[in-house]
Amino acid sequence: MFASVNSDCIGCAACEAICPQVFRMNSYGIAEAYINPVPQDAERLTKDAANSCPVEAITVE
Ligand code: SF4
Repeated sequence: MFASVNSDCIGCAACEAICPQVFRMNSYGIAEAYINPVPQDAERLTKDAANSCPVEAITVE
């Protein structure tokens, strides 16, 4: 599984709170998926983070 964050991100930090193993806030206050492919043991929380993003900026595939 691969995760990515697009430019719709509003920097709410929810994804980082839900799955810090995969998402972190960068120096611009925008989230990034910093480990790809997503580790197998983080896949469930990665999906939870994507579903929790208020602007649907996270893609998992
Ligand atoms: S949950 Fe969505 S809007 Fe919030 S920081 Fe993560 S990618 Fe950005």
